[in-house]
Amino acid sequence: MTAGIYSARARMKTLLFEKMACGGQILVTDIIENFPGFPEGIKGPDLAEWIFRQAKRYGLEVETAEVVGISLKKEEKGLFAVSLSPGRKAQALSLIISTGAKWNSLDVPGEKELTGRGISYCATCDGPLFKNKDVVVVGGGNSALEDALFLTKFAKAVTIVHRRGLLRATKILQERAFANDKVKVKFNSVAIEMLGVKKIEGVKIKDVNTGKDEILKCDGVFVLIGMTPNSEMAKGILKLDEQGYIITDDDMRTSVDGIFACGDVRKKTLRQVVTATGDGATAAFSAQHYVERIKGTEYK
Ligand code: NAP
Repeated sequence: MTAGIYSARARMKTLLFEKMACGGQILVTDIIENFPGFPEGIKGPDLAEWIFRQAKRYGLEVETAEVVGISLKKEEKGLFAVSLSPGRKAQALSLIISTGAKWNSLDVPGEKELTGRGISYCATCDGPLFKNKDVVVVGGGNSALEDALFLTKFAKAVTIVHRRGLLRATKILQERAFANDKVKVKFNSVAIEMLGVKKIEGVKIKDVNTGKDEILKCDGVFVLIGMTPNSEMAKGILKLDEQGYIITDDDMRTSVDGIFACGDVRKKTLRQVVTATGDGATAAFSAQHYVERIKGTEYK
């Protein structure tokens, strides 16, 4: 949406495809406390709505459709086509891919219903909401350990639930976690159900060795078992890293001239609203300069 604001204000004819509702991950974030300018925090859906209105005000066109593929139009240099479901195509001189990433979910009963009601996939975003609370972190990688340590700043106790007897996270994070009195680790345990009616109240876990179930009462659950970028449509066309994130340079240029990527779908270190909006502005600026380079500055 930020790319939309910038490209619409640059008076480029800009069409945004969105498969569900504009806003992405922030639509399922209760309060965003680290976006500059909102000292009391802002509700994720409110921020999404305001950015959307801002983009529309400057003339961004929005269409509900899922982009399922992109291709280079060989017959006309510098023209790209996107395939949309169901069976429709659109063409553009430049593309900006800002399809984000999805947190992997456990797919256990109760998870979907309680997401945003105590279940979160981002401690940086939601951790401060759990002051003096009991929280559970599911996962054993760097994200799980780093976020568990971050959560100790707020939470009363943090229980890590990991499916094996060995953590995947880098040793120094493990050392810090084991040295922290607030952190406990339940090894060889899998979360099998999220419990609660209107908000999370506990997690049912199973010991994979003994088969025994146990209920961990808690006020929050952080599922941190990896992320998957929404980059399927770019496979075989753009350079991706080994996890599927689109590789860009600092100006959001991908490996194909004229295609740009911004936000969580690109390879980067910090995935936050503030970095995504910055990326979006840069991507639109780069797209504008690309169009001007191939068509001239007078092109309408
Ligand atoms: P990750 O490294 O893929 O680790 C995912 C963890 O979740 C693993 O411990 C895995 O268990 C567990 N897991 C996966 N699927 C599961 C399931 N269905 N049920 C229960 N547990 C499950 O993911 P990540 O921690 O999000 O990190 C992603 C990438 O970013 C990694 O390359 C990571 O090194 C990097 N990263 C780096 C840093 C840092 O360097 N400071 C910080 C964050 C992330 P198993 O171990 O049994 O497979």
